[in-house]
Amino acid sequence: MHPSEKKFFTTPLTRFAPTIADISGVEAPAMSPEERVDEIKELVALKTGRSSVDKVVVYNPDALGAWFIDKYTEMFRPLKEKSDLRVDYLTMFPPKTPVCFGTMFTGATPAQHGIQAYVKPHLKIDSLFDRWAAAGKKTAMVSVAGQSIPLLFQGRNIDYFLYATDGAVIDKTVELINSGEYDVIEAYVMEYDTVMHLTHPKSVFAKNAAKRHVKGFERIYDAMRNSYGDCDSFLAFAPDHGVHREWYLLGNHGKNIPEDMNLSHFYTVFPGKKD
Ligand SMILES: [Zn+2]
Repeated sequence: MHPSEKKFFTTPLTRFAPTIADISGVEAPAMSPEERVDEIKELVALKTGRSSVDKVVVYNPDALGAWFIDKYTEMFRPLKEKSDLRVDYLTMFPPKTPVCFGTMFTGATPAQHGIQAYVKPHLKIDSLFDRWAAAGKKTAMVSVAGQSIPLLFQGRNIDYFLYATDGAVIDKTVELINSGEYDVIEAYVMEYDTVMHLTHPKSVFAKNAAKRHVKGFERIYDAMRNSYGDCDSFLAFAPDHGVHREWYLLGNHGKNIPEDMNLSHFYTVFPGKKD
């Protein structure tokens, strides 16, 4: 077993939102903690010589937990090789999609944001999407329609691009990056989560879905490298929770166990060409 399967990580996911706010040059959402993920800020400073970047892309593939990424070394090699930094987080309990993304984009705990089960309300508390919009950042959300992120964070002053499939989400994300029009892009895909619930976390079908999430990362990475050359940009590979296999053999998540709670994010900074 990998360490990520048996020992709980310690950095709480609440620190993601205020840290990303700092490195995008905007105020932190109101319920964020004071603590930051210092390694992220240090990486940005080291690679750009500044405290914030010009463009941010947050890629959210659902349910790719730390143990899965550690187990399938070859599958995730492109992710690990292209990223500058891995940060291990303890996600929020219960490790369900809306609970975790509710925290990821607000810095609030489930007790504060109020989502403590698989429900997808319109979440009206202050979020990264509100802070980006208030700071005049042109922001796009690209997502599979009807899912947690577009439902929780509906009604913000951002542009929504909602589709039926992951493939359409990645295509649009790449198109928006290449257009250069947006300061911030959030992209959500979900095939691994869907397929592992129908089978189990290590099924051939689930692994093929996970490979497509890695391919999506590579397409986003390449688009940023090719199109964001004149500015400093930041890419986050940011899943929400892990998964485990139940006694009745299907994949699931929602328990207070390391397989479900341990999360690894991967971050990349592309420094712009300096004159
Ligand atoms: Zn999820």
